[in-house]
Amino acid sequence: MPVLPVVGIGTDVHPFEPIRDLYLAGLHWPSEIGLSGHSDGDVVAHACCDAMLSAAGLGDLGAQYGTDQPEWSGARGTALLAETARRVRAADFEIGNVAVQLIGNRPKIGARRDEAQQVLSDAIGARVTLSATTTDGLGLTGRSEGLAAIATALLYPRP
Ligand code: MG
Repeated sequence: MPVLPVVGIGTDVHPFEPIRDLYLAGLHWPSEIGLSGHSDGDVVAHACCDAMLSAAGLGDLGAQYGTDQPEWSGARGTALLAETARRVRAADFEIGNVAVQLIGNRPKIGARRDEAQQVLSDAIGARVTLSATTTDGLGLTGRSEGLAAIATALLYPRP
């Protein structure tokens, strides 16, 4: 029997919080509005983590980094990505790739896409690609109340 790959899905949403710095897709974005959350609010990183955990059958961020592990409560998105990749590999999966899409009006990621993809890919040791879209003014992202992200991950179970 061939070893078949498995896919997973992850989404995340955080509201804007103007007094905070924006950390998104593993990068700091000076002069952009930050996101609220116990962590740095990096919806791109969090969606990628949930996609990998989903594919591996390891639950989700809440299950993996619950209140019994307070050391992860304020973690940077890149730190969560690296630790999630470690846990996924420890569960006998290789990471094929992760594709993530940011949903929102700002920031425009085009000029920093390569930089973000490099940082995200370095964090998990596999290819991460980043795209973005808007919702034509509709919904919470369209009203610029926050940012959302959706990700898929492809993993290979180790035979
Ligand atoms: Mg989150």
